[in-house]
Amino acid sequence: MVYEDDPEPARYYDWMLWKLRKSEKWKEAVKYSKDRKKEEHIKKQSAYANPIQIDAFEKDIQELTKEKYTLYGKVQKLVDELNECQKGMNCWHCDTKLIWGADHDLEDDSCEEYDMVTNLSCPQCEAFVEVYNKRT
Ligand SMILES: [Zn+2]
Repeated sequence: MVYEDDPEPARYYDWMLWKLRKSEKWKEAVKYSKDRKKEEHIKKQSAYANPIQIDAFEKDIQELTKEKYTLYGKVQKLVDELNECQKGMNCWHCDTKLIWGADHDLEDDSCEEYDMVTNLSCPQCEAFVEVYNKRT
């Protein structure tokens, strides 16, 4: 049988989809797909919430925190050393930075005016310098 005037229905596919959405099998398939997605999501979440892993993360954080404070300490020590290097005194004769030798406390019966003597030496011209600290 041949139809002379038989245009393709414009909304044919829309209708097919609508019909499909109404079918019980389609609804089941959609529900199944949604349930599977939910399951996957829960699986992923429980993987993150694994208590053993959380314990390991907490230990990592503790280690890193400890390491952080160790490094703070090292940085502070280096800053102190740097400040120590930057202060200091230069040689009267050749202007080379003097090297600190020692601090000696002075007893008040042997020296009334000063309580400490610091000795420094010049690595360039071998000058020897003593600095007396005024007793207060
Ligand atoms: Zn010198």
